[in-house]
Amino acid sequence: GKPVCECNKCYAGPDCSQLQPNCSADADSGDPLFLEPYWMRNAEGSAVVLSGWHRMSYNADGRPYMTRELERHIRILHRLVGNAATDGKYMVFGGGSTQLLNAALHALAPDNSSTPASVVSTIPYYPAYRTQTQFWKSKVFEWKGATSDWVNSTEASTKDFIEFVTSPNNPDGRWQDPVLGGAAVIQDRAYYWPHYAAIKTPVDDDVMLFTISKVTGHAGSRFGWALIKDETVYNRTQEYMDLNSLGISRETQLRALKLIKVMISKIKVRGDIFRSGYALTRDRWAKLSAVVSSSDRFSLQNLSPEYCNYFRTSRDPSPAYAWLKCERAADRDCYAVVTAGGIIPRRGTLFGADSSYVRLSLIRSQDDFDLMLQRMKELASKSQGLA
Ligand code: PMP
Repeated sequence: GKPVCECNKCYAGPDCSQLQPNCSADADSGDPLFLEPYWMRNAEGSAVVLSGWHRMSYNADGRPYMTRELERHIRILHRLVGNAATDGKYMVFGGGSTQLLNAALHALAPDNSSTPASVVSTIPYYPAYRTQTQFWKSKVFEWKGATSDWVNSTEASTKDFIEFVTSPNNPDGRWQDPVLGGAAVIQDRAYYWPHYAAIKTPVDDDVMLFTISKVTGHAGSRFGWALIKDETVYNRTQEYMDLNSLGISRETQLRALKLIKVMISKIKVRGDIFRSGYALTRDRWAKLSAVVSSSDRFSLQNLSPEYCNYFRTSRDPSPAYAWLKCERAADRDCYAVVTAGGIIPRRGTLFGADSSYVRLSLIRSQDDFDLMLQRMKELASKSQGLA
């Protein structure tokens, strides 16, 4: 077991069992600590020791920035999981997929154009697409909001569009396809792993983004990768990494390699991270669904069991997030309702949706989840019988 060094912020006492009064359950960020127990069970095998002389160079394996072994093992992982076609594709490492979002925009935007490319996504979308795009104030791309505003516009066929597609989607776990014909597409596949969704086919998109944050759960290592079909797009993505940071920390790459090797060695056998990850996310979704359906005050996104090629059987939904709707007119400020109930959610408006939605994270630590579930039970039962 893990020595208890630090309690969850809502608990105190020598064994962290005393619930602190008036402490809100944190359901805000997608910090993937649900996988921490897995790595505690594999503490020794997943440890990395670095000597002082090791990996000092700008180069790795004699190559600028990217270790071959890590790239090779990422390709093996995709092949074993069956979630992405990697043959013939180029790979670029990034500081989380967060850094790659902008690298991909740089790669796909026109080099010099009097009219910047329009960057769009479908509501509800992952907020960083908007916040990052706006932050850069680029001359070659600008945020143009929801795809729904452009579907039937003639402008969409005459201008350059770049569409961010997240599938499975954050926040609602739904499978999504691009909606604007002719747009360049950045497919964010952060959640296309058996923890969160049925693996249907190896996806084969032009530009795909993945992150270790949602596979192994090591969000703090800041490591993601892009799989890219076209050589020019690859070169431009790599150019961004050169100019921006000269690549990803070589220590991070060593740690990622170790973690991925451990995962690979247990795939489809005892200790498979996807089996234990899925067992947890499915359990959390089932428990929250039962609570929410006991009340007419709230509703959740509708997800169904699906056949999964990885598990070779039908699997229940197990999304990373609950996309909670407050159903009553009086509860239009859902964030206020849920916050008053002792839960910190993420506002639906950040995802481009209206204020009757909030997102609840289902992938945080067990303490965070258990407390959130308890508070949701209270909110749901309080609401019974009220108009
Ligand atoms: N894309 C999506 C859809 C995400 O949900 C996240 C993390 N919440 C990211 C990208 C970024 O992840 P990271 O930078 O940790 O790789």
